[in-house]
Amino acid sequence: MIESRIKAAVRDVADFPTPGIIFKDITPILKDAALCTDITAALATQVAALQIDVVAGIESRGFLFGLALANYLGVPFVPVRKAGKLPYKTVRQEYALEYGTATLEVHEDAFSSGQRVLVHDDLLATGGTVLAASALISRLGASVTGYSFIISLDFLNGRQRLSPFSNAVHTLAG
Ligand code: 5GP
Repeated sequence: MIESRIKAAVRDVADFPTPGIIFKDITPILKDAALCTDITAALATQVAALQIDVVAGIESRGFLFGLALANYLGVPFVPVRKAGKLPYKTVRQEYALEYGTATLEVHEDAFSSGQRVLVHDDLLATGGTVLAASALISRLGASVTGYSFIISLDFLNGRQRLSPFSNAVHTLAG
């Protein structure tokens, strides 16, 4: 089963990036080509009914499977990046972190009006990152149709925060 294979591969790293945090390191997944293929197919199966036009992936781990998923579904991929990385004209959205703020950007021509967008990231924690991405997507006239993650940390209740945009929140491992 895909969930147990993901859990077996992911490595818990204590005190990263700061003391007290246990970080879920997904890089061991990337060394297992068969698991990567199966994750991509499983993500695609979960969102098959959503009739997605575009996958938006969040920098940087959301690029890894976001592009693979978009290719698998046969739809475009849009990178949502941290401030100052995208070369063309952008729209930006600031969001709160535990300490301070961060900013996400997307190219202003990334989406067409009314497109159905799937937001993908490797991991859902508080939901703050994908909420900021969702605000950007909405500002550009596209519609956040669902969310896709490999892992969710359900004790942080991120899923509930996404409901103003979509209740279609899919994860492969809790
Ligand atoms: P949130 O905004 O939901 O609180 O945090 C999720 C974002 O932080 C995602 O972009 C994710 O990549 C990153 N993140 C937070 N904690 C972890 C973790 O333990 N492992 C990984 N791989 N990413 C994390």
